[in-house]
Amino acid sequence: MKTHVRVLVIGGGAVGVSTLYHLTKKGWTDVALIERTELTAGSTWHAAGLLPLFNMSYTVGQLHKYSVDLYKRLPAETGQDVSFHVTGNLRLATSRERMDEYQKYCGTANTIGVPFEIITPKQVQELWPLLELGGSADMASIIGALYHPQDGHIAPADLTMALRKGARSAGAEIYEHTEAVGIERTGSGEWRVRTAKGGDITAEHLVFATGNYARQTGQLLGLNVPAIPVEHQYIVYDESPELKAYRQGGGRELAVLREPDTSYYLREERMGWILGPYEKGAPARFADGVPEWFGRSLFPGDLDRLVPHVEAATRRVPALEHCGIKDIVNGPISYTPDGSPLIGPAWGVRNVWLNEGHSFGITAAGGSGWQLAEWIVEGEPGIDMLAVDPRRFGAYTSKRYLVKKNEETYRNVYTVHFPDEERPDARPAKTSPVYDKLSAQGAVWGQRYGWERANWFAPRGVERRDQWSFRRTNYFEHVGNEARLMRERVGVIDLSPFTKHEVTGPGAESWLDGLVANKVPTRVGRMALSHALTQRGGIRSEFTITRIAEQHFYVVSAGAAERYDSDFLFKSLPADGSVGLRNITGTRGCFVLAGPKSREVLAQLTDTPLDNTAFPWLTAQVIEAGLAVDVYALRVNFVGSLGWELHFPIEYAHHLFDALFEAGRGHGIGMVGMRAMESLRLEKSYRMWGSDITPDYTPFESGLDRFVRMKKGPFVGRDALERQLAAGVPNRFVTLEVHEVRDADPLGNEPLFDKGGRMIGRATSGYYGHAVQKSLAIGYARTELATPGTELTIEILGERKPATVVPESPYDPDNLQLRS
Ligand SMILES: Cc1cc2nc3c(=O)[nH]c(=O)nc-3n(C[C@H](O)[C@H](O)[C@H](O)COP(=O)(O)OP(=O)(O)OC[C@H]3O[C@@H](n4cnc5c(N)ncnc54)[C@H](O)[C@@H]3O)c2cc1C
Repeated sequence: MKTHVRVLVIGGGAVGVSTLYHLTKKGWTDVALIERTELTAGSTWHAAGLLPLFNMSYTVGQLHKYSVDLYKRLPAETGQDVSFHVTGNLRLATSRERMDEYQKYCGTANTIGVPFEIITPKQVQELWPLLELGGSADMASIIGALYHPQDGHIAPADLTMALRKGARSAGAEIYEHTEAVGIERTGSGEWRVRTAKGGDITAEHLVFATGNYARQTGQLLGLNVPAIPVEHQYIVYDESPELKAYRQGGGRELAVLREPDTSYYLREERMGWILGPYEKGAPARFADGVPEWFGRSLFPGDLDRLVPHVEAATRRVPALEHCGIKDIVNGPISYTPDGSPLIGPAWGVRNVWLNEGHSFGITAAGGSGWQLAEWIVEGEPGIDMLAVDPRRFGAYTSKRYLVKKNEETYRNVYTVHFPDEERPDARPAKTSPVYDKLSAQGAVWGQRYGWERANWFAPRGVERRDQWSFRRTNYFEHVGNEARLMRERVGVIDLSPFTKHEVTGPGAESWLDGLVANKVPTRVGRMALSHALTQRGGIRSEFTITRIAEQHFYVVSAGAAERYDSDFLFKSLPADGSVGLRNITGTRGCFVLAGPKSREVLAQLTDTPLDNTAFPWLTAQVIEAGLAVDVYALRVNFVGSLGWELHFPIEYAHHLFDALFEAGRGHGIGMVGMRAMESLRLEKSYRMWGSDITPDYTPFESGLDRFVRMKKGPFVGRDALERQLAAGVPNRFVTLEVHEVRDADPLGNEPLFDKGGRMIGRATSGYYGHAVQKSLAIGYARTELATPGTELTIEILGERKPATVVPESPYDPDNLQLRS
């Protein structure tokens, strides 16, 4: 066994071996993998081998697409067959909501180039002659389906062996029966891994790909990895006479069938079937680690849980009735609270990488290995990986939280994924101090990054519940009222979850300046919207940096980016001790007070002059407000009306809230929720980190040129920006007014087409602008088609709608309100 390698992968399932393979593809061949027992002994050996291209996530969709393409090439490259049956995959729909979901998915599929078809019931019957179209009291009628012609199923163990062959022929080493049992940092900053059989391996980089063991192996470094497995079972049937007759009559292998509305998948297996449901009540397992006895075993099958799905499947495919059950496979699948894997850097430690939490790990193995290898070797991934970055979760993922959320995610794998869905389990977890006060005002809650956030406020007598939809729905009118309140009078938004860091010390200014593309404010009381870029010039983070004192900066970023940004900032700190950095997210709350009457309201609480000369737009002051001291008042906001963000010591939350409402009573003050904020920010073309500004686009493409100071000196990403300027900026940010919308506004991830029907960009967000009374989208179009006045089309839920590129900021384009 080698004692030193550049990268050591821990875990020999499909995911670990794929990571090893892709590292060698990137030219890093001094790499090794250790596996505690034998390759594939974890979840990989008993997986059903399905490779669904369907995924609602822009990122995960790209990873799956890569995998499917790779697996088709692998046999020729490695000489190892992988039993890839390209049967296609058919997802049935029995409701309009389901069809809407498919149509929404098609937008994403179009933008990433995944081939699909929406087909009619008649075409379903032609593709799948053994299926009943339904329409009786006990079986819903199929109204259409989504068909992917290019995926199917594979043999997971063969796939792993092909990847192993590819990796080994390039020089990678694999050591089985070698368990990692301890990890320590060496003096030179490398990682020394102690193995159970004796002998250490030291590595520059470590990759954890340990599947169901993720929490145990994470603990070796003190990491609370947010992945806990859930039981998943499938039934293996004996030979099916009907299927046999159909195949012997010349029928081709049937497409993998999914009926999400009754929650099961079905595929052929040796003239019989594999039927796998996603049941209610499947328990999370191994929350405290995988016991020694489990090894390569399975759980006993739980028929009670399976019965309703077997019955539904048998009604749809009567052939199931005539074949016996050969086996029930019940194994653990790793899950995370949002169902997407954890691919990327671990937080708080350097050169440690996670490729964990895979619930579709056979499908994702290729893509996750591809991007993780890219990240390790190049320093950053080739595509936007925010949706799978392990740091999208924070310290709030306690064991009980994970158990509840993962069980919930599992039983919802096949439910309709509405864009506005808010799942109820493990809530409320993190709440702002004024949670009860907002509840008393009718808050209808959602959750992000563990925080409860009021999505909208139900007026008295209105039911406090969302009717989730892809279209305008029950809260549309009330959200509109909140948006208008903000534009016409004065509203309050509780944005306490914002991520907040304090940067101090003699080196603070120059350190921050080297991290972001904008100039850090040089004068106390000034602020700058700033972007930290990747080496490729894409946007990794957005910070509002306020200079509170000569050597004191207050750095605010998205609430959901707390661990992501904090890890980045801490890892970027200079070693000379010249900069102090504190994450103060929990110690300050934030209320946005905005609207034409906001000045009059705030003036009642403070003696600080608030007029334009004393307190202009884009400046900040430390003020007293009511009884609260040390309130950072920032004259900016994300809604684009006159107003302030008040960042206050958390202990004043109740007082300040009451004082604002008391002062605002005569002005008709009211609460405003997240959905109204979405409408308001779209009217101002304000970009949201994570959806509109991502590592996929540079600030020039994002239309943020005015926040980039190319001449200020070196900063991360500057060289890439220079290259892009020289070569020409390929895409430009656009604001679109969408016409002929009846009830379905754009929401993001819709493809954009030119007049000739060519896809030329994508919308990244959209909403109805309640004040401007227009349906709006923002996103990216090819530069030559991004000038105002250009006529494009946008596809919303399968319908192409005309859309005009309009100048930025449809509401108050000259910022007169903001400056008033
Ligand atoms: C019943 C069932 C059906 C499934 N069907 C499908 C499907 O159709 N399609 C699909 O895409 N996915 C499917 N899955 C999910 C799929 O099996 C997993 O997502 C995938 O196998 C995960 O691969 P992995 O490499 O991450 O983990 P694993 O295969 O579990 O591998 C992790 C490895 O790490 C090793 N390890 C752990 N700790 C250590 C240590 N300290 N030192 C050294 N080695 C260690 C383990 O021994 C193990 O071999 C299914 C799962 C189940 C349970």
